[in-house]
Amino acid sequence: MFKITERQYGIIIQQAMAAFPQETGGILGGHGETILGILPIANKAIDKANETFGISADDVERAYHFLVKHQLEYLGIYHTHPRGAPYPSTKDLSYKQKHLFIIGLKEKNNPELYAWKVDDFGQVRGEDIKIISDVGATVVDIMTGKPRLSENIGGQELDQLTQRVNAFIQGRKPEYHRYNPTNWDASTFSTFA
Ligand SMILES: [Zn+2]
Repeated sequence: MFKITERQYGIIIQQAMAAFPQETGGILGGHGETILGILPIANKAIDKANETFGISADDVERAYHFLVKHQLEYLGIYHTHPRGAPYPSTKDLSYKQKHLFIIGLKEKNNPELYAWKVDDFGQVRGEDIKIISDVGATVVDIMTGKPRLSENIGGQELDQLTQRVNAFIQGRKPEYHRYNPTNWDASTFSTFA
């Protein structure tokens, strides 16, 4: 079961609603299954932001330093499905990510955050999320449903994103092309342990 603080959950949900109808997302860091740091990232897939979430090389650099600075493990990427359910698309599942965090905005003002675990055989299962107050008390348990894999959104940028993230996890220098720089930075770090 993943745990996230109420404050950080609120930041993700706010970000998801603010970006609608575009996709948005970011990177989650933590220890084990406890989410302790979020790095929201402005979507760089500018020409198709309604269907795709993309990040730049600078974002990957920033994510790397964010994780190192706060001594967090890389837990995964979160991204929104502005028109869809919070289930991994076949595209999402084509990337080698252990965890997928997806915010569905089918009801625009009532976003749902789901966490998914993908095993080595590509099997997906939902993982419950517990929202805790910043002093550690349980606020809400989000119980997952069954994955529906009929949806197919995503794009090349997400593929590139995953390759870059995997590359930085493995300590390689990822290859990428440059995007326009952005000053958008809303990273937060929770000291909840
Ligand atoms: Zn997706």
